[in-house]
Amino acid sequence: MKQSMSLIPTLRENPADAEVRSHQLLLRAGYMRQNASGIYSYLPLARRVLQNIEKIIREELDHAGATELLMPALQQAELWQESGRWYTYGSELMRMKDRHQREFALGPTHEEVITSLVRDEVKSYKRLPLSLYQIQTKFRDEKRPRFGLLRGREFIMKDAYSFHASPESLDETYDKFYQAYSNIFTRANLNFRAVIADSGAMGGKDTHEFMVLSDVGEDTIAYSDTSNYAANIEMAPVVTKYEQRSEEQRELTKVQTENQKTIEDICSYLSVSAEQCIKTLLFRADDQYVLVLVRGDHEVNDIKLKNLLEVDSVDLAGAEETKKILGCAVGSLGPIGVENIEIVADHAVKALVNGVCGANEEGFHFTNVNPERDFKVNRFEDLRFILPGDPSPDGQGVIKFAEGIEVGHIFKLGTRYSEAMNATILDENGRAKPMIMGCYGIGVSRVMAAVAEQYNDDKGFVWPANIAPFHIHLIAVNMKDQDQANLSEELYSQLKKARYEVLLDDRIERPGVKFADSDLIGLPVRVTVGKKANEGIVEVKDRKTGEMEEVHIDQLQDAIS
Ligand code: ATP
Ligand code: MG
Ligand code: MG
Ligand code: MG
Repeated sequence: MKQSMSLIPTLRENPADAEVRSHQLLLRAGYMRQNASGIYSYLPLARRVLQNIEKIIREELDHAGATELLMPALQQAELWQESGRWYTYGSELMRMKDRHQREFALGPTHEEVITSLVRDEVKSYKRLPLSLYQIQTKFRDEKRPRFGLLRGREFIMKDAYSFHASPESLDETYDKFYQAYSNIFTRANLNFRAVIADSGAMGGKDTHEFMVLSDVGEDTIAYSDTSNYAANIEMAPVVTKYEQRSEEQRELTKVQTENQKTIEDICSYLSVSAEQCIKTLLFRADDQYVLVLVRGDHEVNDIKLKNLLEVDSVDLAGAEETKKILGCAVGSLGPIGVENIEIVADHAVKALVNGVCGANEEGFHFTNVNPERDFKVNRFEDLRFILPGDPSPDGQGVIKFAEGIEVGHIFKLGTRYSEAMNATILDENGRAKPMIMGCYGIGVSRVMAAVAEQYNDDKGFVWPANIAPFHIHLIAVNMKDQDQANLSEELYSQLKKARYEVLLDDRIERPGVKFADSDLIGLPVRVTVGKKANEGIVEVKDRKTGEMEEVHIDQLQDAIS
C-alpha cells in the first residue's frame, strides 16, 4: 500500500479525551476515528490489523470443528420476546421500529437468531453436535462507552454457538473451544488468563472468561503464577474491600457494623427464604454497589442456573444517581427463566429502612445505605473471599490480584434458549428433547485494543509481526530525489513479490514527519531509502530494539528475514 494513496491521518498530539494508551495511539497513529460516542470508523491500517486477528480466529475455530456463517444484525422483536430477553435486556438493547411499526433490535448477540435457525433446520440428534460461528458487528448501547475500542457501542465480535444432544457432547465441544481460545490469544501475543467467570452455585466449571492482564481492565481477577487457579472476583468486592482494611480501620468498622444486616436478615424482610436466593450478584461501578439477590422459585439444577446469568443484563437504571451507596433489589426468575426479572422495589424498601434500594425503574431508589455499616455479605459459600497473599484454593500457589480486560467468554447455556424457544430434536428413542447449547464470544475489536495496549512505547505502536498491518515500512526520505524515488519503487515491487506486506511512504513530506509517523504506526521493520540510494545502500531499523544497520539492497531480504 502506498501512503500517498491511503488514509492514515496521524496526529502530533494525544487527543484530549483519550485516557488510555490504546485509545490515544489508535487515534494518533491514524488507525481510527470516532464517529459518535463508542462508534468508530476503522481506517485502512486498523482494517488490516482486524483482518489479521480474524484470520487467527478463523483458523483456530475451523480447526476446532466450527463452521462460519453470517446472520442478520437486524433482529425481529418476536424472537427476543420468545426468549424473554426483550423484557430483561434493558436499555443496552438498541431497539427500533420499521415503517410498519414492527419492532426490531440491532443484535448485541445472536442466541435468539441462531436458536430459531437451528430449530427450523435440525430435527434429529444425528445432525448434532453442530458448531457455528460468525464475525460481525454488534450493537450495545453501553451506559459508559469508553476507552476507545475497549468498550464501544458498535463493535466487532466473533460469536459461536454449539448444539448438542447430550451434556457430555457439550462438555467435549466446550473443551475444544477453551483450547481454541487459548491458542487464539496466545497467537495474538496477549498476556492472558482463562478465569472462572462465575464461582457461584454452578461450581465455576461452566463459564470461563479470557482476561488480558492490563491496568486498564475493568474486571479484577484473582490468579496465581504457579497454579492453574484464576477467577473473576466480581462476586466479592465488598468483602474484599472490608478485609483489605488495616486492623485499626477494621476495629472502627466493627463498631459501625453492629447493625449489619446479613442476607438472611434482608431475606426475612423480603419474605423470601435465604435458601431461595440461589445467587447474589454484586455490581460495582466506580464507587457504587448494587446488590441483586436472585430468587429461584423453581426447580434448581445446573442448567437452569445458567439462566440467572441473564441478570447481568438487568438494567439498573437510576443507580447512577446514588453514588457510594448500596442498592438492594430482588429478582425473580420463572420456571424457564424467561419471565421478566422482576425487581421487587417496595419489598426492598422494607429490607433497608432508611436505606437505598436499587430498582430497575427510575425513581425507586432510596438513599443513605452504607455497604459496610448496613450490609454484609456473609452467607453464601459461592462468594469467595480471596485476598492477595492467600494460598490459592488448589494449594499450588499464592493469590495475586490483577485488572483484566475480558477479551473472550465461553459459556454452557444448557437449554435456556432451546426450552424457551422450543428448539427440540428427536433422540434415539424418537422422543423430543430440547437441544443443549453452548455459546462462545470474542471481542475482535477489543482484542485489537488489548494488543495495542500491550505493544507500544513512548513513540507509538510496536506491533507483533503477525498482528501488524504491514511487515515493512519502506520510506523514501526525499521523493523529489530521482534515485530515491526510483529505488524505493523498485524495492516496493521486489519485496511485495517476495510476499512481504509493505507500506511505502511515498509522500512528499519532511523526513522528520516521516520518521515520527513511522514510529507511531509501529511496523516491525523500517527500511529507509535515503542519500545512499545511488550506491544501492539502505538503512534497516528494528522498531522494537531500535537497532539499525546499513545494507546493500542485494542483502536486504537476508537482513529483514
Ligand atoms: P463486558 O463485561 O466487558 O461488558 P460482556 O460480558 O458484556 O463484556 P459478552 O456478552 O460476554 O460481553 O460478549 C462477548 C465478548 O464481546 C466479550 O468477552 C468482549 O470481549 C466483547 N465485548 C462485549 N462488550 C463489548 C463492548 N462494549 N465493546 C467491545 N467489545 C465488547
Ligand atoms: Mg457487557
Ligand atoms: Mg463480562
Ligand atoms: Mg462476558
